[in-house]
Amino acid sequence: MKLEGGCYCGQVRYQAEGEPIMKAQCHCRECQYISGGAPNMFLLMPAAGFSYTKGAPKEFKRSDLERPVTREFCPECGTHLITRPSVTRALVVKVGTLDDPKLFGTPQMAIYTIDKQAFHHIPEGMPSFERLPSR
Ligand SMILES: [Zn+2]
Ligand SMILES: [Zn+2]
Repeated sequence: MKLEGGCYCGQVRYQAEGEPIMKAQCHCRECQYISGGAPNMFLLMPAAGFSYTKGAPKEFKRSDLERPVTREFCPECGTHLITRPSVTRALVVKVGTLDDPKLFGTPQMAIYTIDKQAFHHIPEGMPSFERLPSR
């Protein structure tokens, strides 16, 4: 599939082509900051099919971690667009930045439930993992 999206103000735009590797909701503490408190809905997409088509994001990496992820967001409006893990050739696309978030369908699993808040919702019967599913 080919997904297109961008930030809230429209300065940064992207396209992501390929089959989603994972569709999930992440409950980790870091995602809570970025989502506003809720779990973060994301698609894991092949990095090779991703490119910015307009503008360029600002990047942030924590300096106190051994293998920090790179968070990319609009320098103007602050919308978080993607996260690049340091260990895989895939990247995390934030569902709320898709032009058509309906294309997400539904998440397949909940991850990092170790940080789950009592007000987070996990649909009945959805596989959930304290951290990541083992491969
Ligand atoms: Zn923006
Ligand atoms: Zn997370």
